[in-house]
Amino acid sequence: MEQDCIFCKIANGEISSSTVYEDEMFRVILDLSPATKGHALVLPKKHFRNIFDIDENTASRLFVVAAKVASAMKKSLGCTGLNIVQNNEEIAGQTVFHFHLHIIPRYKDDGQVIGWKPG
Ligand code: 5GP
Ligand code: ZN
Repeated sequence: MEQDCIFCKIANGEISSSTVYEDEMFRVILDLSPATKGHALVLPKKHFRNIFDIDENTASRLFVVAAKVASAMKKSLGCTGLNIVQNNEEIAGQTVFHFHLHIIPRYKDDGQVIGWKPG
């Protein structure tokens, strides 16, 4: 646990959150300002600032959890696709400095521009 890290507190249950999945290594919560309905964040319970210091064990379990959540979203939210986004350092848009993966369900005409193609 890193002192003053909000995601450490959320991931370890010190602050309550809308948890959609939890196991011994991760907690998956709904984003406070969702880009689309069901936008979720995968938080390791252990503190890592970002991809530059995540450990191998956490990195290797991460997409197993992400895939579980993605399947659950497809089934229960009826999204037709989804984006997975992960920001590292301020220059790349990271605002909370505890590693997290965004899982953003996509719906027809949802108005988001993530993954746009020019032309
Ligand atoms: P970043 O920009 O670091 O990749 O993403 C941080 C995300 O965390 C943002 O989408 C923001 O809405 C979300 N967020 C920030 N603080 C909280 C919080 O206290 N609770 C929850 N559930 N989400 C948060
Ligand atoms: Zn932390």
